[in-house]
Amino acid sequence: MKELLSGNEAIARGAYECGVTVATGYPGTPSTEILENIAKYQGIYAEWSPNEKVALEVAAGASFGGARVLVAMKHVGINVAADPLFTLSYTGVKGGLVIITADDPELHSSQNEQDNRNYAKFAKIPMLEPSDSQEAKEFVKIAFEISEKYDTPVFVRTTTRISHSKSIVEIYEPQRSPVPLEIVKNPTKLVMLPANARKRHPIVEERLCRLKTFADKFSENKVEINNANLGIITSGVSYQYAKEVFPDYSYLKLGLTYPLPEKVIKEFAGKVKKLYVVEELDPYIEEQIKAMGINIVGKDIFPICGEFNPSIVEKVLSPSSKQGVKEDIPLKLPPRPPNMCPGCGYRGIFYIFNKLKLFVAGDIGCYTLGFLPPLSAIDTCVSMGGSIGHAMGLDKALGDAAVGKVIAVIGDSTFLHSGITSLLDIVYNRGSSTVVILDNQTTAMTGRQEHPGTGLTLKGETTKKVDLVELCKGLGVEHVRTVDPFDLQTVEETVKEEIFRKEPSVIISRAPCVLLKSQRTKPSKPFTVFDEKCNGCKACIKLGCPAIEWKNIKSVSKRDKLTSDNKKRKGIAVIDNMLCNGCGLCEQLCKFDAIGEINA
Ligand code: SF4
Ligand code: SF4
Repeated sequence: MKELLSGNEAIARGAYECGVTVATGYPGTPSTEILENIAKYQGIYAEWSPNEKVALEVAAGASFGGARVLVAMKHVGINVAADPLFTLSYTGVKGGLVIITADDPELHSSQNEQDNRNYAKFAKIPMLEPSDSQEAKEFVKIAFEISEKYDTPVFVRTTTRISHSKSIVEIYEPQRSPVPLEIVKNPTKLVMLPANARKRHPIVEERLCRLKTFADKFSENKVEINNANLGIITSGVSYQYAKEVFPDYSYLKLGLTYPLPEKVIKEFAGKVKKLYVVEELDPYIEEQIKAMGINIVGKDIFPICGEFNPSIVEKVLSPSSKQGVKEDIPLKLPPRPPNMCPGCGYRGIFYIFNKLKLFVAGDIGCYTLGFLPPLSAIDTCVSMGGSIGHAMGLDKALGDAAVGKVIAVIGDSTFLHSGITSLLDIVYNRGSSTVVILDNQTTAMTGRQEHPGTGLTLKGETTKKVDLVELCKGLGVEHVRTVDPFDLQTVEETVKEEIFRKEPSVIISRAPCVLLKSQRTKPSKPFTVFDEKCNGCKACIKLGCPAIEWKNIKSVSKRDKLTSDNKKRKGIAVIDNMLCNGCGLCEQLCKFDAIGEINA
């Protein structure tokens, strides 16, 4: 049977077909749909772990017990999981352990553009790179076989285009894993004390030698000899781009990009006159081929930043060629700057931060949009859970000079991901920062996934719900307050009180994400501007709510140049009642009673 599947859906299907019984991960674009689809299959335990390190540690435990396990995360998630990852390379596995790293060339939804092929080489773990959805499914199966045969975790690396584009996939019935589920004590392999780890390192090196031999025989490293004048070595989606514009050139398409098949590469190089490597991001393949003593052209002519497409490959390799490739179609869409949703509970918080001119240590989540004008209220954003550490660092570096000026802001999911330990640091190391936890009861940024604070598992079962107030108190924070972010006066008073406190404090801003299903079913009462009262002061515009627009005098009628009490105005505010969800923030800012509910 055939189905049209995205790369992520195909990976999930691949896991199901080859007998995976445990799957873990943390949501992150472009990887999120892998676990969401795996969770739909009966017989697979699937969890959103609080972070990627935990996901890999749970996966390791399941593998040690003999289960086939799949772990999925985006590229930066591997940084979080890097600690257990490198040691798992030493312990090896029992049941196959496959790690999906979904990389994001072009930073469509990421804070950096790292090339995780480097992790494979660094951790000495094999890496497969599918070029379409069919391969995404097949490579998962192959990855499990390699994992169990060579006693190693195996990476499958996708990029955004593979993760999200759809192609035809052959579907099969699921098979049972060949590995027995059992507890077998093996401390010399699994306890990485220095004495044991020292003995494991040569085993890892010897495994790599065997994998190099395997790479040279691996059928998914495919050689296509066509025009012998020009040969291209490539992998992943870059193969599709190159093949589309230069179907007649010769190709070595690498399915396994670590370790590289040295013998095959040398043979291929001997069969073509000129050799190029087409690869996005780092000169990862290029450098290794050059180290083999082979002359190859790569990043001398190809960009090192951003995503490729057929047009880029064609223009770089053959600037004068027009082999039927479609020119980039100039898009004439109106610009659509990113913005928080109308009625978002974050907006009022950032409005107050801006008003108080605070230095705001920010974090990863849709609240990072608070950086944009007119709110302009995020001053740092580096890594998941980083904001609390930034505030602590500023506190320790500046001492009293930071009091009343610095605040950290973090989402509920991000706090549970990796903010907890930083808050503990503030408490333990006698910091005095104030942390605002934006509790919108979901992982909003990646599409509203569950987390330990939602009371639901990935499979939709009810579970123990973390109480953020009690958690913070348990960490030793004595001043924990909860605010309604739609009550601007209380928010401002609370923030002012807490930022001057010379002790750690936490403010939990509690309002569910407006996109949660539970919120969407609630009837909204849109607000309106009573235009005869509006004097055009623009106070409401400073909220940056996409539902509010300001019309200048040129676009209002002559009659509208005056308010109802004959005051001159340069324009008026207008609320689009199709967008407004009636949060009432703008009403609180209008000193002229010009905003209220429709039909109030
Ligand atoms: S609606 Fe109120 S706050 Fe907005 S511009 Fe008019 S008078 Fe100012
Ligand atoms: S009530 Fe005002 S701030 Fe809230 S969504 Fe409507 S227009 Fe935007």
